[in-house]
Amino acid sequence: MFPQTEMLDLVIVDGYAKGIITRSLRSGKIDAHAAEAVVLATGGYGNVFYLSTNARGCNVTATYRAYKRGALFADPAFTQIHPTCIPVSGEHQSKLTLMSESLRNDGRVWVPKRQGDRDKVPGEIPEADRDYYLERKYPSYGNLAPRDISSRAAKEVCDEGRGVGPGGRGVYLDFADAIKRLGEHTIRERYGNLFEVYEKITGEDAYKVPMRIYPAVHYTMGGLWVDYDLMSNVPGLFVIGEANFSDHGANRLGASALMQGLADGYFILPNTLPNYLAAQMGKRPSPDSPEFRGAEADVRARIEKLLKINGSRSIDSFHRELGLLLWDKCGMSRHEKGLREALQEIPELREQFWRDVRVPGSDEDFNQSLERAGRVADFLEFAELMCMDALERDESCGAHFREEHQTPEGEALRDDENHAAVFAWEFQGAGQPPRLHREPLHFETVHLTQRSYK
Ligand SMILES: Cc1cc2nc3c(=O)[nH]c(=O)nc-3n(C[C@H](O)[C@H](O)[C@H](O)COP(=O)(O)OP(=O)(O)OC[C@H]3O[C@@H](n4cnc5c(N)ncnc54)[C@H](O)[C@@H]3O)c2cc1C
Repeated sequence: MFPQTEMLDLVIVDGYAKGIITRSLRSGKIDAHAAEAVVLATGGYGNVFYLSTNARGCNVTATYRAYKRGALFADPAFTQIHPTCIPVSGEHQSKLTLMSESLRNDGRVWVPKRQGDRDKVPGEIPEADRDYYLERKYPSYGNLAPRDISSRAAKEVCDEGRGVGPGGRGVYLDFADAIKRLGEHTIRERYGNLFEVYEKITGEDAYKVPMRIYPAVHYTMGGLWVDYDLMSNVPGLFVIGEANFSDHGANRLGASALMQGLADGYFILPNTLPNYLAAQMGKRPSPDSPEFRGAEADVRARIEKLLKINGSRSIDSFHRELGLLLWDKCGMSRHEKGLREALQEIPELREQFWRDVRVPGSDEDFNQSLERAGRVADFLEFAELMCMDALERDESCGAHFREEHQTPEGEALRDDENHAAVFAWEFQGAGQPPRLHREPLHFETVHLTQRSYK
């Protein structure tokens, strides 16, 4: 076990994944670890948006650096935005809090019908002046409409100027009817802990006033491409859990990520990895071999470069700016113009980062600024790949909503003839556009159709 250790590079020997380069988060010591195979279980990249429901430590570094060593990155544009989070409350926030999906079983989502009512106390807005927009638009699913649909619907009413709370970026999740019908005791039994969390963060008692919620980045469906054995295109590199692109593919409208993680780790890998290892026994390279020395030198050079910049801007200011840019242009909905702008702005921001970021401290010590700087540097490259993927996928598909492609009712309009495929991107070298591989999707039993939640 190597706790508090960060993987900073993948080592490939003769085309096979044979080890990793790590840095101790406590001492800064760089080490090479050789093995017969490598398994990445390093989670999703939601924090590329700066604000997300993910733990602060989640990042793209392991998968992105594996991508730069030849692993294909699939469908990076697909991000799940969860509709039920506590809205952003200020500029200094570094994390968003998820309120469980289960709340929508009993809570009713609404905003005022008129913009002019949005600053009123909710109790003063009569029923006739409320828009229970999910129930109105999706009568059969109502407040339980899937995550991407509910999130976009919330954005839509807030874009119309009917959002509530600070900045108008919130909608009500109201339990008044459920309390009247079932009694406060039942609601407390079902959701008491969540109401407590909500009160701790907002200071409001959701038994008395409706909760305010807004969508937030929650889960990333893209990840390293893997086959059914969970091996990437690089022999010996296995990728499990949220770090890979598989199973929940394009949408993950509400399916279980934890089940995927468990299935990957408990059932699939224990069968597929030994098959691979059988042919690899005795083929563990020396960590002193040139491939390891080369990768280690690359890691050291990158750290040195970051520490030498000694610029004037904080790491977080770059991360925050990147996050906002992505949220606006590659978030809940995207369009060609915005994506093209983002593809222009991201390299400019990256250039500024490498010229002007301030990374205090040294490399041979506990240095969280250095850790963050490395991760933000990777986010600044990866964000470009996300936007390229979103631009190339010239259709709407589940969580990837291109505003140009919608049905007359405003729902996602796919183009199955041209885009029913996994998009897997291959790194071609710094400054070169990545190469796109399309893996066609074939549906034999359940055929593709237009989603409808009416
Ligand atoms: C608030 C919240 C609630 C959720 N609720 C549900 C739910 O109810 N149901 C459900 O199915 N899913 C839920 N999810 C999603 C689910 O929890 C995640 O998809 C799942 O935990 C991912 O598991 P994982 O093991 O792949 O990655 P993670 O649990 O993210 O673990 C990745 C680990 O790798 C480490 N790591 C990252 N990079 C490196 C590196 N370079 N070197 C070394 N270590 C590294 C990270 O620190 C982390 O410890 C929720 C997610 C969140 C954030």
